[in-house]
Amino acid sequence: MKKGAKEGDAMEEKDLKGLIETFFTCNKEEVLQIFNELLNAMEAEETLATVDPMSRNYETAQSNPEINYIPGNLKDARDAIFPFFWGTDGWYSKYHLENVKGPANYASLIGSIACLLKNPNLCVDTYSQRSNELELKAITTLANLVFYHTRNPWGMFTMGGTISNLYGGKIGIEKVLPGAMKTGLAGRQIVGIVSHAAHYSNETLAGWLGMGTDNLISIPTDDACSMDLDLFENELNRLYKENKLVAFVIATFGSTDAFGIDDIAGIRRIIDSVVKKYGVRSPQLHVDAAAGWPLCFLNEYSVAENAFNLSKEVLATITQLREKAMNIQYADSVTIDFHKMGWGHYPGSAFIVSNRDDIKLLLRSMEQVPYFSEADYRHDPALFTLECSRPAIGPFSVMASLNSIGLQGYQMLVAHALEMANYTKKQIDKLEYCKVLNAKCLGPSVVWWVLPKGRNAKEIYRDLVSGNITEKDYKRYFYEVQRLFDKRKNVMDPKKDARLSFTTCMGYLPGGVALPAWKAVFFNPKTDSDVIRQIIHSIEEL
Ligand SMILES: *Cc1c(COP(=O)(O)O)cnc(C)c1O
Repeated sequence: MKKGAKEGDAMEEKDLKGLIETFFTCNKEEVLQIFNELLNAMEAEETLATVDPMSRNYETAQSNPEINYIPGNLKDARDAIFPFFWGTDGWYSKYHLENVKGPANYASLIGSIACLLKNPNLCVDTYSQRSNELELKAITTLANLVFYHTRNPWGMFTMGGTISNLYGGKIGIEKVLPGAMKTGLAGRQIVGIVSHAAHYSNETLAGWLGMGTDNLISIPTDDACSMDLDLFENELNRLYKENKLVAFVIATFGSTDAFGIDDIAGIRRIIDSVVKKYGVRSPQLHVDAAAGWPLCFLNEYSVAENAFNLSKEVLATITQLREKAMNIQYADSVTIDFHKMGWGHYPGSAFIVSNRDDIKLLLRSMEQVPYFSEADYRHDPALFTLECSRPAIGPFSVMASLNSIGLQGYQMLVAHALEMANYTKKQIDKLEYCKVLNAKCLGPSVVWWVLPKGRNAKEIYRDLVSGNITEKDYKRYFYEVQRLFDKRKNVMDPKKDARLSFTTCMGYLPGGVALPAWKAVFFNPKTDSDVIRQIIHSIEEL
């Protein structure tokens, strides 16, 4: 022990004090200064034309891990991450149309930073106090938005839509095989049902829940990427005849590529009648609305008054959408990704049940049920969540965004996205060698073919759907669609040409054939009709 040190404090008191002062005491000026520098860097980046700011250096990232030896300061923290901060795209450009990812809004930033400053852990009330209360508030608000009639909602924020869907699947397993949480699947074959247009996260959950991906059955869709209900009914009958346990049906409200929407009321009717016929336990009807939930903002928009002066086509879309959105009330549970079209920060996904008793099924073991009082599960989500430690960014982002952008603000943002998608469909449709593949889908995305000039894309599509085309021919057309996409990518000018993406299967498979397509998703509020006209121009120039 050194001279002058107090007993029990073997370390140099001065050094430890320095660490505490630098890293565990808020130096407001320094924090603000660095934050300001990061904001300045972002501002500078946004003036640059290129959308791919820096090339990656994976080799060194793996071969040369680094840790500074001597304690430093907050600027070292800045320096350690700065090249990666600079090299990361914030997706704020209006030319970003390639996927279901929008720019995060700044009200969400305020909420998220407030959350990070306190760093609550939502696992139990004692670690999160009013943040836990905020989660309840955010869940109830979102529940009211999507379930037209909320009986008794409950839910939690999760790491993402995949995990929210997993909760839906898990509750279904517990419903048809009570006690599976404790006993496991006990050799029973469990199946789940989705549509061809469903997100691949459903396969993830089938694998992770121990059912096996082979036991996830997908039902073909119609040309609006909506599950074919006759085929669904036949399949359900077949499964029960074979004595299978059907744990869940996951309906899609807004598929990731084409924005197809399943008929949730129709699915509910079929489940109820078939289940009754066989005298079996009802599967969970979960709705994957990860991408599509924001369309519910428009449920309350007055088409008659049309305050935003929306086009006739979009008004018609809103009327149809409302009918489909109202059907979410027939579901048992729903997935909402606020980090998609809520324009919030990651992670901001919510899993919401319509009847809170369903949450009971997620308790760790049956022995714990006596403790399942209202107070307990309100205060201690860790009793039923998949995670133990859980961030509160979701609730903070949601409440900050909803209460600053407001219902009307969200209506404007979503309606704008619909206007842009509608305009794009109309413009593409004018080109004889192009074909919009999701003309009947009602969301903010467009998937289409571009074929070489001289081809009649609409006719080719008709022939394909009616089965009047050979495999050799359609493979050649598909190759052309891909080749022209790559060609545009190679010649595009990032200063004026939007970034599009390519899907190898847009969700509708006529005759079992997966349709490749160009894809644009209108999640960025800044994207305007000029951007779209330039897309059309770039297609004409190919
Ligand atoms: C994005 C998406 C998911 C997955 O959500 P993550 O938050 O990325 O895990 C699931 N379903 C649909 C329809 C989606 O669009």
